[in-house]
Amino acid sequence: MSTAPVTLPDRLAEFQSAYDELKARGLRLDLTRGKPAADQLALSDALLTLPGAGSYTDAAGTDLRNYGGASGLPELRALFSDALRVPVPQLLALGNSSLTLMHDVLAFAMLHGVPGSERPWGREETVSFLCPVPGYDRHFAITEALGVRMIPVPLNDDGPDIAAVKAALELDPTIKGIWCVPVYSNPTGAVYSEEVARELVSLTAGDDFRIMWDNAYAVHHITDWRPEPIDVLRLAAEAGNPDRVFVFASTSKVTYAGAGVGFLGSSPDNIAWFSHWASFQSIGPDKLNQLRHVELLQSPEGVAAHMEKHRALIAPKFAAVQEVFGRRLAPFGVGSWTDPKGGYFVTLTVSPGVAKRAIALAAEAGIAITPAGSTHPYLDDPEDAVIRIAPTFPTIDDLNAGLEGFCTALLLAEAEKASASAA
Ligand code: PMP
Repeated sequence: MSTAPVTLPDRLAEFQSAYDELKARGLRLDLTRGKPAADQLALSDALLTLPGAGSYTDAAGTDLRNYGGASGLPELRALFSDALRVPVPQLLALGNSSLTLMHDVLAFAMLHGVPGSERPWGREETVSFLCPVPGYDRHFAITEALGVRMIPVPLNDDGPDIAAVKAALELDPTIKGIWCVPVYSNPTGAVYSEEVARELVSLTAGDDFRIMWDNAYAVHHITDWRPEPIDVLRLAAEAGNPDRVFVFASTSKVTYAGAGVGFLGSSPDNIAWFSHWASFQSIGPDKLNQLRHVELLQSPEGVAAHMEKHRALIAPKFAAVQEVFGRRLAPFGVGSWTDPKGGYFVTLTVSPGVAKRAIALAAEAGIAITPAGSTHPYLDDPEDAVIRIAPTFPTIDDLNAGLEGFCTALLLAEAEKASASAA
C-alpha cells in the first residue's frame, strides 16, 4: 500500500465540492474592518447621558460650552499622559479622530513645512515616506492623497527593519518621514522594541524628517502581558532630534469609534507649530465631549479597567481565529498567521499569488474579507500573499462561520495553485 502523503493537489476535488456547498449556503458575512462591535460600544453608553444637566465646567471653572481651550481639556490630557508617555503640556486633546490629526500634520507640512524644513514640503520636487509593510491602509491613503511617494520597508516583529530603513535613507534624500504603529501594529500585532525606537529616533536624516508614531493601540491588550510603554519623545530628545516624532492616539476603540477624542503629542516646538496652523482652522475642540470622557473614565486606572471589559468581549474572538486556522489550515501546512497580544487584527500570510484568489472566492460565497493588497502602499502587495483578518466587529457566531467559510475558500485557492504548479 502506498504511504505517500496526501498533498494539496490530491484534495482539489474535495476542496472544490466543499466550496460549492459553502457557496450554495448564500452567506452574507463581513470580516473587513477593524471596528468595535455593538457590545463594546455599549460599554461606554454612559456617554449618552454625560456630562449631564448643569455639568459644563472644568476643574479650573472654565465654561466648556464656549469657544477656547485650543489644547483640549487638561484633565483628559492628564488621564492619557502616562499611557502615551507624553507630558501634559505637550499633549493636545482635539477632535474625534486621530487620522484627522495625521492628515493635518502632513497637510500643514506640505503647505508650510515643519520646524527644520528649508521650505514647505509641497515645494519639494518629490516628497517620500517610508511605509513599513504590512501596514495600515488609511495611513497609506493619507500619504497617497497628499502626493507623497511611498516606499515600502519590511516590518519585523520588533518594528521596522532598521537596515532597510537606513539603506533607503542613504539612497534617497527625498524621504521626509515614516509611518509607525508601535504597539499591536495594524495588521500584524507587532510591538516595537525600545531598541528599534532608539534606532529610529537616531537615524541620520534631514532636520525635517518626521516619525508618525501612531500609538492607536497603546492600551488595547488582550492578554495579561503589558508592553513597557516607550517614551519615544524622551528618546528622540536624548538622540539630539527632539522634534522628530509626532505621537497620535485616540479613544476611538476605548469609547466610541465615531465620537471619541483624538490626541496629538510632540516636542514643545512641534506642538507650538501645530497649534499655530490649527488656530486658523478652529477656535477650540469639543470640550464637552472631552468632559464626558473624563467623567466616564475618571483615571488611568479607570481606563485600564474599561479596557479589561473590552478584552473580555474580544479575546474570545481572537482565540476563535487561532482555533479555526489551527484546525482547518495547519493540517495542510497552509498559511501562517500572527497571534497578537492586543490591537484589532491578525495577519494571515498565504502562498505567493493566492491572496487575491482566496478573497475573491470568499466574496463569491458571501464572505467579505479586507481586499488583498490593502496592507501595502498603492494597494500593491507584490507577493499577493498578505491577508488582514479583522475579528472584532461580527458576533462570535458570524465570525466563526466567516472564518470557516474563508478557510474553505483559501484551501481551494491553495489547492488550485498547487495543482497548477504540479501540472
Ligand atoms: N490608527 C490605526 C493604526 C488604526 O488601526 C485606526 C483604526 N482602524 C486608526 C488609527 C483610526 O483612528 P481614529 O479613529 O482615531 O481616526
